[in-house]
Amino acid sequence: MDAEAEEKYIKAGKIAAKVRDEAAKMAKPGAKLLKIAEFIESETRRLGGEPAFPANLSLNEIAAHYTPVKNDETVIPDGSILKIDVGVHVDGYVADTAKTIAFSDEMERLSNASRDALEEAIKLVKSGAKIADISKRIEAVITSQGYKPVSNLTGHGLERYFLHAEPRIPNVATRNEARLKDGMAIAIEPFATSGMGEVRDSAPALIFMLLGKKPLRGGDARKAAAFAESFKGLPFAERWLPFDSTFKARLALRELREKGVLYDYPPLKEKGMVSQHEHTILVKDEPIVTTL
Ligand code: MN
Ligand code: MN
Repeated sequence: MDAEAEEKYIKAGKIAAKVRDEAAKMAKPGAKLLKIAEFIESETRRLGGEPAFPANLSLNEIAAHYTPVKNDETVIPDGSILKIDVGVHVDGYVADTAKTIAFSDEMERLSNASRDALEEAIKLVKSGAKIADISKRIEAVITSQGYKPVSNLTGHGLERYFLHAEPRIPNVATRNEARLKDGMAIAIEPFATSGMGEVRDSAPALIFMLLGKKPLRGGDARKAAAFAESFKGLPFAERWLPFDSTFKARLALRELREKGVLYDYPPLKEKGMVSQHEHTILVKDEPIVTTL
């Protein structure tokens, strides 16, 4: 990795960590998710970054990919568990980080399982490390605390303007021979659950990614596509679209989806409660965790 890329990864990481921790302080029962999301996104820009994806604020059984809608009235319930997942990029170089805030002792224990798994996993990161060993450690830490890792959510590589790049870093043991390489940027994100260990899609998607260009009929669809193009392949929120009405926004998105140029990120739901912790790491002989 060249020095300039590394510098930008580190800057993005510093911003993401600061914004994540400030947002965590705002997260109290009764607080509005929309207010926290807007804070995360505006503070990211104020500090010199751009959101790499919409602020993910996922409650209880939702593991990931919930972001508030326009005028969202959702507040944090008593006794709940909230995942705050923040993405920041500087010139396309991404920091992806998450922490869980728990509002009961039981949820605190669940939160600790994914936090401890992440800490243990990071100790194994270095050039040449076998990814399967990292996955195995994550699974062992989570199961030793009486929970299940979510098997169909994984950590991932990060490339410029590309969020979910190779390699996948599963949260359960696999027979994967792949190894980490010098110069990779990766995100490790253990999810622990009291449920089945598997998430399913739930409707509707509120986060999207534009996949390409196609001729579009509707003026609103063209307007949505032009807006979406400005994210250069990174995800965006329905809430961010330049329409006054959510109905119009959804119609415009529907045309993009029908043309095959829209990728949906629906909220991912478990049967049980879910916790998640995530850091971004630059793989070197002495790895750098950019989001500490
Ligand atoms: Mn994330
Ligand atoms: Mn991630």
